[in-house]
Amino acid sequence: MPCAHFRFYEELNDFLPPSRRKVEFEQRFERRASVKDMIEALGVPHPEIELILVNGEPVDFSYIVSDGDRISVYPMFEALDIAPLVRLREAPMRDPRFVVDCNLGRLARYLRLLGFDCLYDNGFTDDAIAAISQAQRRIVLTRDRRLLHRKAISHGLFVRSEQPREQVREVLRRLDLHALSRPFSRCARCNGLLAPVEKDAIAGRLQPKTRRYYDDFLQCRDCGQLYWRGSHHERSRRLIDEFLEKPAE
Ligand SMILES: [Zn+2]
Repeated sequence: MPCAHFRFYEELNDFLPPSRRKVEFEQRFERRASVKDMIEALGVPHPEIELILVNGEPVDFSYIVSDGDRISVYPMFEALDIAPLVRLREAPMRDPRFVVDCNLGRLARYLRLLGFDCLYDNGFTDDAIAAISQAQRRIVLTRDRRLLHRKAISHGLFVRSEQPREQVREVLRRLDLHALSRPFSRCARCNGLLAPVEKDAIAGRLQPKTRRYYDDFLQCRDCGQLYWRGSHHERSRRLIDEFLEKPAE
């Protein structure tokens, strides 16, 4: 039976059983198979993959595996500099936008607080998420690795952590997003953009104390939510600082 040698790098090993992590292993195959099909059969979702080398040469997902091939598989968005090699897709998006799976609502709110464009609705079905990702070129964030096996999804991240705050740090780290954050530019509630608004125009909506102590206000263009530098702002500020603090190397 023909046989290929696989080696997965960095966080792609999370999808493999312990005995196959960070080592070369053999995989037998009976039928003619594309490298994408073989990799997904091993449990690794294709949107997490950035680069595949077969016997040292870059190939795309449709490559048909031959007996004796040595196949190295590298993750999406990995900090390794692989730019000189052919990637499976064009360069990672510099203006990353997301569609967030339905059990990750707090992650979506926190990323919006940092200014990232995150579509989220706890009623999204898997079909809806795949369709939105494809139509709007949004990166899928999910804790459901089967969702990432869908053909329509080209960019996606399987979020490892179960804790919302840790999830934020994980997404920032893995996609290298720290420099792209724009805190207080987007509504955490609905994802709309914030714009300055004249105090006179909204004075009737303010509590007396807020009206007395604050003069600068931002308003969501979509849902009308008001933001100002009160105690809630201070809590958000501390949270943002915590998210953007880079871990010690
Ligand atoms: Zn809003």
